[in-house]
Amino acid sequence: MDTPLLISSIATHAEKFHGGQEIVSVTADNPLHRYTYKKSFGRARQLANALERLGLGRGDRVATLCWNDYRHFEAYYGISGAGFVCHTINPRLFPEQLVFIINHAEDRWIMTDVMFMPLLEALADKIPGVEGIIVMTDEAHMPETTLQNAVCYETLIAGESRDYAWPQFDERTAAALCYTSGTTGDPKGVLYDHRSTLLHAYAAVAPDVMSLSSRDCVLPVVPLFHVSSWGSPYSMAIAGSKIVYPGPKMADGEALYNLLDSEGATATLGVPTIWMALLQYCRQSGKRLDKLQRTIIGGAAVPRSMIQEFRDVHDVEVRQGWGMTEMSPLGAVNTRKGGMARLSGEEQLDLAVKAGRGIFGCEMRIVDEAGNELPWDGIAYGALQVRGPWVCSDYFKLDGSANAHTGDGWFDTGDVATIDPEGYMAITDRTKDVIKSGGEWISSIELENTAMGHPAVAEAAVVGLAHPKWTERPLLVVVKEAGQEVTAQELLSFYAGKVADWWVPDDVVFVDELPHTATGKLKKTELRKQFADYQFPA
Ligand code: AMP
Repeated sequence: MDTPLLISSIATHAEKFHGGQEIVSVTADNPLHRYTYKKSFGRARQLANALERLGLGRGDRVATLCWNDYRHFEAYYGISGAGFVCHTINPRLFPEQLVFIINHAEDRWIMTDVMFMPLLEALADKIPGVEGIIVMTDEAHMPETTLQNAVCYETLIAGESRDYAWPQFDERTAAALCYTSGTTGDPKGVLYDHRSTLLHAYAAVAPDVMSLSSRDCVLPVVPLFHVSSWGSPYSMAIAGSKIVYPGPKMADGEALYNLLDSEGATATLGVPTIWMALLQYCRQSGKRLDKLQRTIIGGAAVPRSMIQEFRDVHDVEVRQGWGMTEMSPLGAVNTRKGGMARLSGEEQLDLAVKAGRGIFGCEMRIVDEAGNELPWDGIAYGALQVRGPWVCSDYFKLDGSANAHTGDGWFDTGDVATIDPEGYMAITDRTKDVIKSGGEWISSIELENTAMGHPAVAEAAVVGLAHPKWTERPLLVVVKEAGQEVTAQELLSFYAGKVADWWVPDDVVFVDELPHTATGKLKKTELRKQFADYQFPA
């Protein structure tokens, strides 16, 4: 039957079959809010009624500027389910980027957490198209504001009925919008439709992807404001998993531990930097992650030492994932194939540091500079290209001007990778970050990963800097683990036998902190600027 793949169909299913399942959230106005799917989707329908009453039309954008909590989850379904577009905004973007994307997206309303209101107050005169602000709190916590037309979320939906028939429309109708926070140029918008969102969500539930079920309790730390929290609001609801949202407490190791433990989380999702804070808290307090079974980590390369610590200290399986905003985001996830359990502990780590196997629904290939396909031998590296029903066909309102696709219809990811004979892909670098030394390429990711294996290293970045003889040479920039000492020479010696001699960085610089993008990735453009005048030792 030709029934459309609509986000509202997930709400209908989840409410019928898992109505009693829990959603637990930390919010700014409640240390632990707890309710059921049934209540949640009922409130999403009240929101849909309220948005219609505001006069919004099909395809109109409603922005969210919120942390991971139950009201943001309701917004996902209330906005998209009613046929509007849920434009999630990253509050960590620079003010000028926020102004750009709100205007570019033509957002009509913005739903915001209380703590981001000062940000919006400062931008108000630069975003004239915004008709009003919905503040994600109740009357008791509504602050004074200079914002015009600011309404309280709880008051807005309180008067609305839970009776609302989700509208039926073409599955290729736009559902959500997310901007990439590129390091150069203006942010670019990626528009997801209902069909791509559902196909991606189905894929994520599968055993070798996120393996979600109604027995799971999932704590997504990856923000709802970044690539739909990897599609988890949809996948978790399809599976009927218990959901735990950390609210503003995303980067606090102790708070995360307590929430994981007290709610009995079996699975989590997040970028590597988040887990550094959690593991550090566990190390210092002697706590163990007893209930957690697996953590899906992506968005940046996962250090080998992190995978090992989760495995050996906590008995938690790390599933590395790779993807990007333009891919909804999932492209590859790393799980062992049958038979691979026989690999030794070290061999399993060799495998687990790779980005993962392509999941069904996302084809991949690597090509050389002339566009010729390269072999899957685990050695040849080239530009990684993908295609599939949840990969973007263009950027929002750019009409092909970004030139992101090849003539034969593949999306160029901007990543450089190898693929081994079993289909495991490993990211070598972003195209812009590879280090070209004497005509050969050095992988900055592998050098960072190796340095992170040293106990005195809290975080490491490697950038290629101009060199008179070799064009570029690697510089290792390190943040030391608190209370630990290590010399540059000790770190350089640590590379012996782990990478080719000529890959070993030419020098080490210690810093107090490394620059990160709004989504927690190392900001290498900034580092290269910072060290533009640096001279390697003779
Ligand atoms: P974003 O669109 O902001 O999510 O960024 C996507 C980019 O993050 C990818 O193109 C990769 O460069 C990087 N990335 C994501 N996952 C991984 C991973 N597992 N290993 C290395 N880089 C990754």
